[in-house]
Amino acid sequence: MLLSSPWIRYVAVAVTISVAYVIATVTGAPEAVTAGLSAVSVAAGVTAVLLGIRRYRPGAVWPWLLAGSLVLATVGTLLPPGVLQGRPPSVADVCFLSVTAGGAVTLLLILRKRNPGRDLAGLLDAAIITVSAGLFWWIFLIDPIVAGTDVELATRLVAAAYPLGDLMLAALGARLLLDTGRKSVAVHSITGYLGLTVVPDTISTLGTLSGSTHGHALAAALWVISPLMLGLSCMHPSMRELDAPSPVPTPDMGPLRLTTLALASLLAPATLLAQYVRGAALHVPLICAICGVLFLLVIGRLAGLVADMRRMATTDGLTGLRTRRYFQEALVHAGHRDHAVILFDIDHFKQVNDTYGHDAGDRVLREVGARLNGAVRAQDVIARYGGEEFAVLLPHTSPAEARAVAARIHATVRAAPIPVTATESVTVTVSVGVACTPTDVTESARLPLLADQLLYRAKEAGRDQVAVAA
Ligand code: GH3
Ligand code: MG
Ligand code: MG
Repeated sequence: MLLSSPWIRYVAVAVTISVAYVIATVTGAPEAVTAGLSAVSVAAGVTAVLLGIRRYRPGAVWPWLLAGSLVLATVGTLLPPGVLQGRPPSVADVCFLSVTAGGAVTLLLILRKRNPGRDLAGLLDAAIITVSAGLFWWIFLIDPIVAGTDVELATRLVAAAYPLGDLMLAALGARLLLDTGRKSVAVHSITGYLGLTVVPDTISTLGTLSGSTHGHALAAALWVISPLMLGLSCMHPSMRELDAPSPVPTPDMGPLRLTTLALASLLAPATLLAQYVRGAALHVPLICAICGVLFLLVIGRLAGLVADMRRMATTDGLTGLRTRRYFQEALVHAGHRDHAVILFDIDHFKQVNDTYGHDAGDRVLREVGARLNGAVRAQDVIARYGGEEFAVLLPHTSPAEARAVAARIHATVRAAPIPVTATESVTVTVSVGVACTPTDVTESARLPLLADQLLYRAKEAGRDQVAVAA
């Protein structure tokens, strides 16, 4: 019963192959056995990707790229060895580096579809992690390879392309994990695959650079598991929505994201401290430059968050108009000279809610907001003042002009019925109060109160009308 779904059966097979490989390594089984299990792992991974393509999405290009990558990686292992074995560059290097390039193109295709809008926050987060990881890669992997003088330059450059490619994959993986799209099993298994490629590559390169064979067995085991993980990303039903556009524009700053970004930002100064404590060569200019870039990225992220907070505090979520808070600040900044405030309230709005439901009421509020937008000038501030109450601040406006605008708003709202359901519409009326400085009150701070009193005078006089100060 538990094994009824194909992807669970696949996980069972993948775990069996992985465990068998680990047992074979630990017990010192002949190389033919470990090589055989490694081949079985690639075959299972490719089969899973192809089955996934057949089952879920024949149209997309990226799963084919993944299947091709696995095949190419296998071809690479069968060819005469290249720089990874300390030899001059060979066709095997072309194969392996193409696998990395294929992985990067796959991720770029997926990321572009998942993030159709401008997810600047997600990009900045991934940039913070990439810059930080880039420092590690440069100091411990790329620079030592390029700086080595006992091998030819061409060989060193090709060898350095491996960690550089891994850094690119790590950066794209971080971008995928930090975007706003859904984090499904497919997303986690594809980033797991990247981890199972990048981590053993790094262990192996560090081992080669330090002349140690520690970690080689671990790296080999992770390499064997990686195609199985890739297979899972296509075998799981969530592969269908791996590149579905994200409905959320900005990522949430949760504790996990904050911790990850904090650790990433601290990596550069921690590296310098570690070099100092160990008496190693200090990379002062490089680390200072990286810290500077990280500061700027973090400040950029902060600026985005502040802008988001401000937008939320000043924009009404339902109508997109300004909030009461923004309106009151605008009134303070306007000063005391010849301004007007128009306040209006929808008549018998409770009946709309009671008859057609709350959603219909919301539709009416949105439409009234839109009509209000069309009835005022660009310099006027329009706000949703309360539940079904709206306010307009008209700077530098004479009482006659203010009354004309109030009459226009009153007429525009009731001019045409507002659709409340697919088939029904209602005619909405409003009661309006208009107050002006300096004719009605001397201080503009008192304008809303007077406009409110006039509004209730309009209500008492039978609604659906404009009231002005006598
Ligand atoms: P009056 O002519 O005296 O203004 O009558 P009214 O029914 O419009 O006034 P009342 O203040 O009794 O009712 C206002 C209603 O507006 C009550 C509340 O449920 C509704 N309301 C407030 N905010 C919202 C909202 O965001 N959406 C919807 N659908 N209804 C809202
Ligand atoms: Mg009302
Ligand atoms: Mg009201």
